[in-house]
Amino acid sequence: MTIPPINVFRRTKIIFTLGPATESEEMLEKLIRSGADVIRLNMAHAKHEWTRKVIRRIRAVSARVGRDVAIMMDIKGPEIRTGDVEAPIELKPGEIFDFTVKPGSGDGENAEEIRSVDVNYRDLVNDIKVGDTVLVDSGLIRLEVLSKDDVRIRCRVLVPGALSSRRHINLPGVKVNLPAFTEKDRGDTEVGLEEGLDYIALSFVREAADVELLRAFLADKKSKVRIISKIEDQSGIANLDEIVRVSDAVMVARGDLGIECPFEELPVIQRRIVNACISQGRAVIIATHMLESMITQPVPTRAEITDVANAVYEQSDCVMLSGETTIGKYPYEAVQMLDKIARRIEQEKPEELRSPSVFTGDRMQVLHSAVVLANQLPHSKLLTFTRHGFMANGLAALRPVHSPILAFTPAPEVFRQLRLLRAVEPFLMPFSSDPDATIENAITVLKRAGTIQVGDKLIVATDIVSQDRVVDSVQLRTVR
Ligand code: PEP
Repeated sequence: MTIPPINVFRRTKIIFTLGPATESEEMLEKLIRSGADVIRLNMAHAKHEWTRKVIRRIRAVSARVGRDVAIMMDIKGPEIRTGDVEAPIELKPGEIFDFTVKPGSGDGENAEEIRSVDVNYRDLVNDIKVGDTVLVDSGLIRLEVLSKDDVRIRCRVLVPGALSSRRHINLPGVKVNLPAFTEKDRGDTEVGLEEGLDYIALSFVREAADVELLRAFLADKKSKVRIISKIEDQSGIANLDEIVRVSDAVMVARGDLGIECPFEELPVIQRRIVNACISQGRAVIIATHMLESMITQPVPTRAEITDVANAVYEQSDCVMLSGETTIGKYPYEAVQMLDKIARRIEQEKPEELRSPSVFTGDRMQVLHSAVVLANQLPHSKLLTFTRHGFMANGLAALRPVHSPILAFTPAPEVFRQLRLLRAVEPFLMPFSSDPDATIENAITVLKRAGTIQVGDKLIVATDIVSQDRVVDSVQLRTVR
């Protein structure tokens, strides 16, 4: 695949979730060619054998197409679920219903009158209080806690529905003491590391310590995989700043957030998370229900188009598809739709953002100068060289108004990880020991690819050797 010409360059990155609708080689090729940047594997539904198979397939298709994408493994994290039921239980409004924490404890004296279901979390009785809300199956069924004892939580049904086996339970505002990184997460992560992942998305991050746990696990395995923290409940929001600080990127996981928080708060929370990430120089992903209606329809609703546009106006790094590309009938059209909306909205003048508050070191000041210069020069392009991703990340965090960030790296894993960052177009190239030769080589690559033309202004943010010392520099070059 040829690198898109710069006038059609898209700043907002596209993530899609892999599933039955998209896992074939043909569909993967179509989606990678059409500009998907990151592929997400949702481990809530994935077996290890499938995971290994599809990671290898993605790598093979990428190599064939000539466009490497990043792979994100989304691990399930702490999750409370109901147990098995023989047939769906039709819960009626006002009905008294028990959640039991020891299998079989619903078979006691009241079993005839009061129906019940088991829950997979023993300590639920300790975490929950009388008056709390229990939401089941994506919030479709709502109950209120009336009383509890050692083995059961007695509730009244407020919003009825059919309760089937292994339904997800949300407890808005309840601090759940489940481990942040479960045994299942550990097993999934190990498989992912063996197969070569780029990002791990940790679900239900409630505090910085949750991320640090995973960070320590990865360090122990000598892995350079980056961590995306999924913000999906009220604890995550309460501890937002500290979570953003210790994460590489953050996902606004609106599916669970919209259940755990009052729904009218969701747009406010989304904006708060985006701003917190931009202010701390971390990438941010807007996820879930972006084009939900495209699971069954070839065109999205007007409201969905506006929601995607809003994420682009907010200058988030990525927009993400879930059901649209796992089980949807129109996965290719959904990716194309995100691409089309993002490109159009990016033509509008973006809001000028304040510089990230955490970027105070000398190197960041140099990057800041590069972006100020780029913003003053129409049609200019930023060019940077990055071994670990720091320079590209810094430039992306500064949100240049119109210039793309052409980021060269010699490290394949960094090259793929850069796919997540807003406005960054990554290139893989070995670096010469002479920084000036590296710049010249990059310019040759870019000219050959048609990414730059003679006369273009390049703002180069890089280190150079000056009198045997390496110094950070900003250079303005005109392509000859
Ligand atoms: C979400 O809740 O929005 C989300 C992305 O997480 P999951 O799909 O794992 O529920």
